[in-house]
Amino acid sequence: MSNLDKLISHFEKFPGIGGRQAKRFAFHILTLPQSTTTELAELIGSLKSTVVECASCHRFFSQTSGTTTLCSICTSGNRDHTKLMVVAADSDITAIERSGVYDGLYFVLGGTVPLLHSEDSKKLRGGSLKSTIEARIPAGLSEVILGFAVNPDGENTARFVESIIMPLLVTTHEPLTISHLGRGLSTGSELEYADPETIKNALRNRG
Ligand SMILES: [Zn+2]
Repeated sequence: MSNLDKLISHFEKFPGIGGRQAKRFAFHILTLPQSTTTELAELIGSLKSTVVECASCHRFFSQTSGTTTLCSICTSGNRDHTKLMVVAADSDITAIERSGVYDGLYFVLGGTVPLLHSEDSKKLRGGSLKSTIEARIPAGLSEVILGFAVNPDGENTARFVESIIMPLLVTTHEPLTISHLGRGLSTGSELEYADPETIKNALRNRG
């Protein structure tokens, strides 16, 4: 296999990228100046050592000061630690932060539980979410917001998260509200692509 074919087969594994797009990417790279392709290669090569996963919320962040394990949201003194929003992916956090109306904490589940592939839930951070909520309840956590899309997969993912949280409510006897951001979104909305105004309304109307 040539280097070009190898590169194409790597691009084909990217989310949402088919064979034709993968080829276009590879041939586009061939048209770039050497300095750009070198920079690209270096960026990819160093990405995993400079961008790390937050030990608490699991979102990716740029590590600037060497040994920090927590992201700027988790360490910020301006965030409301009584609220925790569970989202499928980092891109959802980006969309919500853009709206500027949510000041609580996050937890990145790492994907969704498709209605027809419930076994996929094993790939998600269910266990870690359970221990995070368990640890945060005594620290004052009072609301868990389920930030998933309004479609069958999003609703199935919300049910999966509820199945993790419900038993905790029974054992802790603490007042913990579970709300759904999706109930304030229109049907079919993907959080990732929602505009700031839509997210603002969704947060206001969550239930
Ligand atoms: Zn974090």
